[in-house]
Amino acid sequence: MRMTELLGLGIAVIFILGARLALGEDEGIVSRAIRQPIPDKLVVLTFDDSSRSHHGIVRPILKEYGFGATFFITEGFDFPINKDDYLTWAQIRELHDDGFEIGNHTRNHLGINHRTLSCLDDELDGIAEGCAAQGIPAPVTFAWPGNANTEEAFALLHQRGILFARRGGAPEYPYDEGRGFAYEPGKDHPLLLPSAGDARPKWTLPDLIRAVEQARDGRIAILQFHGAPDTAHDWVSTGEQSFRSYMKYLKIEGYRVIALRDLQEYVDPAVTPEDYKAVIESRKKSVEAEAVETTSEK
Ligand SMILES: [Zn+2]
Repeated sequence: MRMTELLGLGIAVIFILGARLALGEDEGIVSRAIRQPIPDKLVVLTFDDSSRSHHGIVRPILKEYGFGATFFITEGFDFPINKDDYLTWAQIRELHDDGFEIGNHTRNHLGINHRTLSCLDDELDGIAEGCAAQGIPAPVTFAWPGNANTEEAFALLHQRGILFARRGGAPEYPYDEGRGFAYEPGKDHPLLLPSAGDARPKWTLPDLIRAVEQARDGRIAILQFHGAPDTAHDWVSTGEQSFRSYMKYLKIEGYRVIALRDLQEYVDPAVTPEDYKAVIESRKKSVEAEAVETTSEK
């Protein structure tokens, strides 16, 4: 064997060993994060912003299909005075009594960033106290209002007993179409779980299918809805008939639909990736590559 061939072989061996090592580390954290094998077709259903339709329209449909869900409650917007568009606390308690999860979405729907961080504790209290007054346990899940988020809040959320927190489909996808990636246990930070789909008024069934078909090979599709319809926020509203067709699809196709807190059965929220941004960066690259491919096909 010539020197150049030997060198080539050496480089190849180092490359393979390196790749195996990286893969091994990945597999290590994934297996530590997982409590039991994650079935395909596992979907987490979440509803934001205390829309009145969550009680009148969404609740009976979910009960009919036996679906779990999390309702992320905020007293923001004109929740305190407008009961045409927003839930009452008595209705929120009924959702809890039905077995649905009540999650925290801050008292004032406060976008969390470096500047507003100091208000977060109070903002969480606002909803936790409302829950306590109704005999609802303190929320263990959180949805970032307006999907704004900062890792500076992780310590406080953890201290407040928040196990899982949900963001939107950004930064991998732009906000507009409500697209996103499924949650990858061990790779995503438990306090920054992506929405695989964030329903928009223009969505049709293929958009829903695109989101939930990612729920396989150990990944979990988390769906974000607002009202169905959302009578106060038309830019995130889902029409009642569309919503019915989405839920019917999940039922017919045999999806298991759970609340965000139920992830504890499958995932240990205490296991956090060393670098949670790595998976986000690699997804962003895949989105860019896909965009280049579609442009060159045109
Ligand atoms: Zn919201």
